[in-house]
Amino acid sequence: MRAIQVSEHGGPDVLRPVDAPDPAIAPDQLLVDTQAIGINFIDTYFRTGMYPAAVPYVPGSEGTGVVAAIGADVTDFQVGDRVAWCAAPGSYAEKVAVNAAIAVPVPDGVAAPVAASALLQGMTAHYLVESVYKPEPGETVLVHAGAGGVGLILTQLAAARGIRVITTVSSDAKEELSREAGAAEVLRYADDLAEQVRKLTDGVGVAAVYDGVGKDTFEASLSSLRVRGTLALFGAASGPVPPFDLQRLNGLGSLVVTRPKLGDFTRDREELRWRAGDIFTAIADGTLNIRVGATYPLAEAERAHRDLEGRKTTGSIVLLP
Ligand code: NDP
Repeated sequence: MRAIQVSEHGGPDVLRPVDAPDPAIAPDQLLVDTQAIGINFIDTYFRTGMYPAAVPYVPGSEGTGVVAAIGADVTDFQVGDRVAWCAAPGSYAEKVAVNAAIAVPVPDGVAAPVAASALLQGMTAHYLVESVYKPEPGETVLVHAGAGGVGLILTQLAAARGIRVITTVSSDAKEELSREAGAAEVLRYADDLAEQVRKLTDGVGVAAVYDGVGKDTFEASLSSLRVRGTLALFGAASGPVPPFDLQRLNGLGSLVVTRPKLGDFTRDREELRWRAGDIFTAIADGTLNIRVGATYPLAEAERAHRDLEGRKTTGSIVLLP
């Protein structure tokens, strides 16, 4: 099969197309012929070595496809089923071994590029507004990178519940998309960002900030919060936040800061099915739009990573095998 391989850590150019043996499956796994593969920012952290990954490896963790074979212990899937997943290592490939426990059935009518890129970003947005800090209708929150994959979904989920969403974006085109998703106010990453947020909240600050940008926005995020507000620092698109003196949270108003990850909010099959079910149901009934901003042939994973890190993408981006 064709796959992308990383043989050394580095820039996007280390993503090289190769011929690789088909994966062998364990008794509790499915062998899936991929139809589309989700690209996520975390794939860049493993590629650069910022997160540990032993080389050589096939990157990616998310995708959708048709079950081609099942392991001896699998009871809840059959050959021919359409499934999606977001935690199967080696997903940048034509065939992927997926643990049946993390596979999710794809509802009819959901196109492959959408199914391939809805779960990781969608369930992240879900756990952030549902389980990390669940805002009340009428509360105001700040979402950074409002036109990104997670940002567009998070904005839609929050706005649909009557939450006032302020977002940040880097361009007019991204502002338009963020407003379409339901953002009430869209700001740029200016030096006085926190002041602008305070002006928009009568000097009070927001109840929560959902920050996947990290290094460049962290200080503004803290300064934008109301007393006892929550900062959910869930990513590092601009780089990791340097070490931080916890005592500062006291002076800033008894703030709560958390650094969550999806795996801790999809701890068992029940929790995974709940979040995935909510996302696929909302897609199917038209209340959640997954914007697939661009698709790339599998062999062009390098270009896709360049675009993602170069802030050229909007919504999700997908590889097609
Ligand atoms: P996005 O589609 O949001 O892409 C990243 C966006 O971040 C860019 O489009 C850009 O938007 C913004 N950005 C700001 N500064 C920079 C910078 N210096 N370099 C690159 N981008 C920058 O990606 P995802 O939706 O895949 O992920 C968003 C964040 O969420 C990432 O940090 C990711 O790691 C994190 N994440 C965390 C999870 C968790 O459970 N903890 C799970 C899933 C994602 P703009 O141009 O508008 O600034």
